[in-house]
Amino acid sequence: MAGLVRSEALPSLPAWEPVPGLYILATPIGNLGDITLRALAVLQGAALIACEDTRVTGKLLKHYGIKARLQRLDDHAPPEVRARVIDEARQAPVVLVSDAGTPLVSDPGYRLVREARAAGVMVTSIPGACAAVSALAMAGLPSDRFLFAGFLPAKDKARQQSLEELAGVAATLVFYETAPRLEKSLVAIAALWPDREVAVARELTKLHEECRTGTAAALAEHYAAHPPKGEIVLLVGPPTESEAPVLDTDALLKAALAEAGPGKAAGVVAKATGIDRATLYARALELKGE
Ligand code: SAM
Repeated sequence: MAGLVRSEALPSLPAWEPVPGLYILATPIGNLGDITLRALAVLQGAALIACEDTRVTGKLLKHYGIKARLQRLDDHAPPEVRARVIDEARQAPVVLVSDAGTPLVSDPGYRLVREARAAGVMVTSIPGACAAVSALAMAGLPSDRFLFAGFLPAKDKARQQSLEELAGVAATLVFYETAPRLEKSLVAIAALWPDREVAVARELTKLHEECRTGTAAALAEHYAAHPPKGEIVLLVGPPTESEAPVLDTDALLKAALAEAGPGKAAGVVAKATGIDRATLYARALELKGE
């Protein structure tokens, strides 16, 4: 990866008329060069920048020589703080940033945006870096359909349940993950979906960027031997053919038997599933006798 951009002088920025409103603005996810010229112009012209952590945003602004008024704001901020920010956005450009990447993507902002829209304040988005999208773009997994599922739960049982809920989703699954939890998640994925292709995208846009692909079991083995550091996006390819859902015909027959006799129940299930009616009738008789 290329090193950080070292320029402190702003490049020539696009003209921007400072229209009042709330600007949801993406910041870099590692490499400070990953910010658009329009984003810099908006930051420079903002009356107020609402941010998760004033130190983190302060560093970015200092790098680009931008001076601005900062206001700490996350989803736990009291409603009156959000109301003040929204009031200000009626009269001047107010920017929302998070520590890194696109606000609202596993980051604060949802409440503020919702309330600003409800208050009739102009809301717009200044696009830029997002770790989930960067990881998807480089992992080589199907990208026509993907489901961003945020962070998996930390506890084993809840993680397992979340994964099981996603089992039938015919899309690449994208998770945010932490280094200490990666191996456990990979082991859980390996147990559930041994054949799926998995990717671990780590430290994107930074010096030690890597994107490693393989089965979850192979990746779990790798990271057990080489404990990962840094920030991680975990991607899981869509279901393979070997995972074709097994039809629970007993459950279907039982439901049909609650409404009708074995003959009719077998007919209904045969029509719905394409399974041979005689086989279903024999099983319906067995179930009725149980
Ligand atoms: N809003 C951010 C975005 O647009 O990507 C995500 C914020 S979320 C609190 C932080 C998580 O995003 C990290 O734990 C990691 O899973 C992922 N992430 C952020 N930066 C990353 C990077 N440079 N490389 C890999 N993953 C990253």
